[in-house]
Amino acid sequence: MSPDCLFCKIVAGTIPANRVYEDELSIGFPDINPQAPTHILIIPKQHIASQAKAVSEDTALFGHLMAAAAEIARNQKLERGYRIVVNTGDEGGQTVNHLHLHLLGGRRMGWPPG
Ligand code: AMP
Ligand code: ZN
Repeated sequence: MSPDCLFCKIVAGTIPANRVYEDELSIGFPDINPQAPTHILIIPKQHIASQAKAVSEDTALFGHLMAAAAEIARNQKLERGYRIVVNTGDEGGQTVNHLHLHLLGGRRMGWPPG
C-alpha cells in the first residue's frame, strides 16, 4: 500500500471500481476512459510502481497477471483477439504509477501503436 497511489486506493476499496475479476493477488476493473469496447485494467494488489521495477522475485506475480488477463479475456468473450499493453514510464505513456495491464478488445487493433 502506497498512501497516495490511486490504484492502491482501488485495491483498498476507498475509491470505487467494478471488480470484474479478483483473486488473492490481483483485481481487474474497467478503465474509466475506455479506448476500446472492452478495456479492463489488471493490477496486482501489491504496490509495484511500474514494469521497470520488476525483479526476479516478481516473476511469479507477473506470470499470474498474464494468466488473469487470459481468464478475463475468456470471460469477456474476446475470442477474436485482444491486446495487452503495459505503458511504462513517462515516454511509455504511463500516468498511474502502480503496475497495470491494459486488456483491450472488441475492435481491430492498429499497428504500429501510437
Ligand atoms: P496509464 O496511462 O497506462 O498509466 O493508464 C492509467 C489508466 O488508468 C488510464 O487509462 C485511465 O483512464 C485509468 N484510470 C484512471 N483513474 C481511474 C479510475 N478511477 N478507475 C478506472 N480507471 C482509471
Ligand atoms: Zn499502488
